[in-house]
This record gives sequence, C-alpha cells and structure tokens, in this order.
Amino acid sequence: MSKSLQAIRGMNDILPEQTPLWRYFESTVARLLDNYGYKQIRMPIVEFTELFKRSIGEVTDIVEKEMYTFEDRNGDSLTLRPEGTAACVRAVLEHGITGGGQTQKLWYIGPMFRHERPQKGRYRQFHQIGCEVFNLDGPDIDAELIVLTWRLWGQLGIRDAVKLELNSLGTSESRGRYREALVEYLSAHLDKLDEDSQRRLKTNPLRVLDTKNAETQAVLVDAPKMAHYLDDESRTHFEGLKARLDAAGIPYVINPKLVRGLDYYSKTVFEWVTDKLGAQGTVCAGGRYDGLVEQMGGKPTTGVGFAMGIERLILLLETLEQIPEEISRQVDVYLCAFGEAAELAGLALSEQLRDQLPNLRLQVNAGAGSFKSQFKKADKSGALYALILGDDELAQQVVSVKPLRGQGEQQSIAFDALAAHLATCIVQG
Ligand code: ATP
Ligand code: MG
Repeated sequence: MSKSLQAIRGMNDILPEQTPLWRYFESTVARLLDNYGYKQIRMPIVEFTELFKRSIGEVTDIVEKEMYTFEDRNGDSLTLRPEGTAACVRAVLEHGITGGGQTQKLWYIGPMFRHERPQKGRYRQFHQIGCEVFNLDGPDIDAELIVLTWRLWGQLGIRDAVKLELNSLGTSESRGRYREALVEYLSAHLDKLDEDSQRRLKTNPLRVLDTKNAETQAVLVDAPKMAHYLDDESRTHFEGLKARLDAAGIPYVINPKLVRGLDYYSKTVFEWVTDKLGAQGTVCAGGRYDGLVEQMGGKPTTGVGFAMGIERLILLLETLEQIPEEISRQVDVYLCAFGEAAELAGLALSEQLRDQLPNLRLQVNAGAGSFKSQFKKADKSGALYALILGDDELAQQVVSVKPLRGQGEQQSIAFDALAAHLATCIVQG
C-alpha cells in the first residue's frame, strides 16, 4: 500500500477483534464512576494552542516537543489536545459551573495526541479516561479518587499487578522554598548534571528529580528533600490522605522523586505503576492542582484529578489474561434459512424474536448459501445455537434448534414457542 494511504505512525486502528475488550473496559469504568457520583463531560478534541501553553506550562515535555499544533484556515494556532485537564478547566470556567464555589465531580474519555516516539504502551494517538474534581480541598477527595481506582483494579482483576506511588509537592509557597534550596544545591554540582538537567535547572528545576541519568541521580542522593520543606498545611493534608488510604487498606509507597511532568500540580501527586509492561509502566497518574483555575483566569478554585491510559490498561489485561470469557462470545444464535420462502419467514421470525428478547444477540445469515456453507458460518460466528429453517420446518411452522457447542440434542420448536425456549437456554441460562 502506498505510504500516504497508511495510518500515521503511532496512531492505531482498534480492530473488531479488539473492540470487545475496549468496550468491556470502558463500560466497567463508566459504571464505577456513575456509582461514585461522577458526571461525564465531553470536550472538543481541538483547542487554542494558548490554552495548553498557559495551563500545562511552557517548559514541559508536552508543550516543548509533543504537541500537534497547526494553523487554522483563518490563522489561529490550534492544537490537538495532549491531555484532558486543560480543556476541562476551560469548559467549567466558560460555563461558570464552578464559579460560585460549586463542587463538580467530572470524568471524561477520549483520544489524546502527543508527538512521542511510538513503542509498546506509547503512541501518538492514545486514549485516556480522566476525573477532575473542583472545589473540594480536603484529603478526603484525594483519597476517594485513589480508592475508586483501587476498586477498579479489583473489578478488572489487576490489583496484584499495580502499585501506588505517592508524594506531596506542597503548597506553592512551600514548593517555592524547596525549589530555591534545590536550585542552590544543584547549581553547586552543575558540572555533574546531564545536559537536559542543566537546562531544566533553569526552566523547571523540580523535573531534574525525574531524571533517568545515572550520574545526575547520584548527585540527587544528597539533595534537599521536599518532605523537609512542607509547611503545616501541606503536611496535614498529606497525613490526612495517608490515614484514609490506611483506613481503606490500600498499600502505597512514598516516592520523594515523584514530581509529574506538568507544571500545575500542588500537594498530592500519585501514580499507579506496574512492572508488567516494561518501560511504559505508569497506567494512571494524577494529583492536586489548586492553583490552576486561578492561573487560567478563574476565581480561586481547588482541583484534583487523574488520568489513566486505556492502551496500557488493555495491554495489562491481555498480559495478565484477565479477559472475561463472556466478552469473547458476540453471538447467541445464528439463523440459517434455505430458499426464498424460508428466508422471508426467517426475517419475520427474527424481528419478532428481537421484539420479545431485546437482549438476544441474533445473527441472520446473509447471502443465502448451501446447508454446508451456512452451517460453517453459524459455527464460526461463535453462536451457541443455529436456528434452521427449511421447507420442512416451514411446512410445520417449527424451527430446528441445533446446539453448536455440544449442549444436547437438536430440537424442533414451534414458531410461537421459540422466544420462551431461547429465553430458558440463553438469556437466563
Ligand atoms: P509518561 O511518563 O509515561 O510519558 P506522562 O506523565 O506523560 O506519562 P500523563 O500526562 O500523566 O502521562 O498521562 C496519564 C496517563 O496517560 C499515563 O500514566 C499513561 O498511562 C497514559 N499516557 C500518557 N502518554 C501516553 C502515550 N503517549 N501513549 C499511551 N499512553 C499514554
Ligand atoms: Mg509523557
């Protein structure tokens, strides 16, 4: 195929054989979030570039090198959203739904775009489910976000494979004091820092903590620790969170180097990581961003949220073989009809069945075909039963119900008894 007709590298089709697992995952999360009282919000995929620069921060990886930015026909600079928080904050501000101090517990799902080097678990179009909570400033809501993800891991059967890492970045005042101390210390060891870290020291010094460079890591061993710079407010908040996680029985480790990539975090930051996916091990990440709304022109409004990477979680489900059996079967019954008269009767009968059994997954053979070929298609569909309708059945107003997965003998069932019969052996059985 010519290159121009291929998908863009790092932007994947999700093929029909994969969508059942995606839909299972998405519906599991949606139900859970409904049950915790979160409401869905849907934002556009494209926003003004300025939104991301202002919110995420000019000197972050995302804004510096990962955004898909282009000019609209009228000269506006637009960007495919690299994450959901910025647009969500814009939306609540624009519609004034947090302005009077109202609490909002929101969630979103959708594609995000970042120009990264594609590899396992890292793509250029990927999907996130995220939550954002506005106007609740206590550690109880930070804890709730973590508790509900913990419940999700339980429902998905992946709890044993993920670990919670936690840190506090403090209020902006305590973070400011820490930043000063860190810069002073690192400046004294400038020659031992890698190039990237030297640059970050000037632009976004906390990100140096995040370095993968061994020499820089060695310098960091004796660097000042954020924990020593937390003011009372930050410390009380962090203790409150830890107490709630303990009460809920959720294990965690404190990772003092956890700083997160974006500028806007304060106090709580956390990541759920797995060692089952290689280098792309963070499946869900979030934190508190109490200054962001104001920074974007709103009234002071606290915020806290997270986003999980759907591709990585799907990979984890596959790796751990936590794929529920029922999602692999898409068809309950497959109707085979032989001859024009049987086809017509079959169509009427199947529509009647759909009225009577709205959840029945009934596939009607299309394209006619011999007994052998229809039967083969019925088997391949994964259906539990084939419904057979030929001249003989038609004359007697019955359907032959043939079990395809070794569950008993073929039976003749009268048209008007078919729905009740199928209800006992499929829908309820
Ligand atoms: P990483 O350190 O892996 O680049 P990040 O800190 O940039 O992650 P966030 O912005 O916090 O990621 O996004 C939240 C989650 O979205 C990540 O934990 C991950 O699961 C997922 N994610 C982020 N970038 C990608 C990507 N390029 N491809 C697939 N999933 C991604
Ligand atoms: Mg990243």
